[in-house]
Amino acid sequence: AIAMRKVNKFYGNHHALRDVTLSVAKGEKMVVCGPSGSGKSTMIRTINQLEEHQSGTIEIDGEEIWAESPNMDAVRRKVSMVFQHFNLFPHMTVLENCTLAPIRTRKATPSEAVDLAMAYLSRVQIADQAHKHPAQLSGGQQQRVAIARSLCMQPDIMLFDEPTSALDPEMIGEVLDVMVSLAGEGMTMVCVTHEMGFARKVADRVVFMDAGQVVEQNDLETFFTNPQNDRAKEFLDQVL
Ligand code: ATP
Ligand code: MG
Repeated sequence: AIAMRKVNKFYGNHHALRDVTLSVAKGEKMVVCGPSGSGKSTMIRTINQLEEHQSGTIEIDGEEIWAESPNMDAVRRKVSMVFQHFNLFPHMTVLENCTLAPIRTRKATPSEAVDLAMAYLSRVQIADQAHKHPAQLSGGQQQRVAIARSLCMQPDIMLFDEPTSALDPEMIGEVLDVMVSLAGEGMTMVCVTHEMGFARKVADRVVFMDAGQVVEQNDLETFFTNPQNDRAKEFLDQVL
């Protein structure tokens, strides 16, 4: 579970998160949307401290985290992130991308790590590409590898920051299908995405951010049928 209370983040003078208060229960799926620059990436990145916050509290499973908190290594094993631009290691094969972190940080033996990686690569239907390098794969395939790599850490919580927005339209579906299936297995998920079809399928809650603030936070039906905030209404008019 994730609990953020009155979290503020500044980049220099720029106030990027303003009193953000959110909670995500175990197994819950939260979709985050909002205009460009509204702080969605910043918010999601504070959850594993890729960005530090300056005030307020963030708790993972009841334990407070901050940039130098002693539990950060454990938190990073428990919370994994999938990025817009995949962020695979280009000089490593698909399989090596997936085994690296479990060997280094989970103390898996190489053969355990390979077994685990192959299982998750099969799960995202890309096991046959395990010995290729990322550049030899399509964007959709690379993103599925990135998801498999995250799963190899056996995380409790997965964060997705616009995982399909760098993909050609014909590849979006294959990545969303994997995410829908993870959602069906009870993974706790925070997904920054503008894929409202995906949101309709899996979201328990939709959060809309504007100018660093959470301006609307509602269950799926209410968000789509009766948004309260004007910016959220405009946004929905544009994306639906
Ligand atoms: P997008 O939809 O374009 O991805 P976003 O909602 O994810 O936008 P953020 O990337 O969180 O928005 O950025 C929020 C604000 O903080 C923006 O005004 C952005 O310019 C600023 N910002 C983000 N990262 C930095 C940084 N490293 N240094 C300075 N300002 C930053
Ligand atoms: Mg962003």
